[in-house]
Amino acid sequence: MSADRNESIPELICELCRQFYGLGWVSGTGGGISIRGPEGIYIAPSGLQKERLRPEDIFLLDHARLDDAHVLCPPADSRLKISECRPLFYNAFKLRNAGAVMHSHSLWAVLAARLFSPRGEPGEFVCQGLEMQKGLRGVGCFDTVRVPIIANTAREAELTTSMAAAMQAYPNVDAVLVAGHGVYVWGETWAQAKTQAECYDYLFRAAVEAERLGLGSGPGVGPGVGRG
Ligand code: ZN
Repeated sequence: MSADRNESIPELICELCRQFYGLGWVSGTGGGISIRGPEGIYIAPSGLQKERLRPEDIFLLDHARLDDAHVLCPPADSRLKISECRPLFYNAFKLRNAGAVMHSHSLWAVLAARLFSPRGEPGEFVCQGLEMQKGLRGVGCFDTVRVPIIANTAREAELTTSMAAAMQAYPNVDAVLVAGHGVYVWGETWAQAKTQAECYDYLFRAAVEAERLGLGSGPGVGPGVGRG
């Protein structure tokens, strides 16, 4: 193991993945989180059960080379491959200088995207008037939240260009929904990424449940919902 590898971040990734598994965000080996430390970018391998990750399974990649995946320290098991999400995570490191990026396969994200993009086409999730919006960077509870939705692709890495375009079109938004798939959320730190991911998931669920209950005229969350 490389001497400049800091074990606290791999341990944190394992702990967060267990929490995300409990929320239904990373079941079936999908989803995960990547964190940038002073020595590089820590990322999980592809295909492993995220709730059973061990610190020695985590890759350390060079954060000075964001155009490819340059491994500084591989996992203990040389058969492991880097997560397919790597280019998507790198979008947030490159375009937003993020400190951490997470990817969730939350059912609420999938259903919320479906409400606003019923055929899986590119679109925009909208909600307004919820207290939990205050957990998002630069957003108040009476503001309108808009999150871009991009179409899914057969392979995760093929999302890279459309995700980057959506990020550039929505410079004040720290999330991109992927139709029929899930959501990417990032932040300056792992704590901000986690907080924002939790708040977005709440908003997605609120929109789905509001639609199910027949509240309001459209698929969004009405301005009167959630006050007090
Ligand atoms: Zn995914």
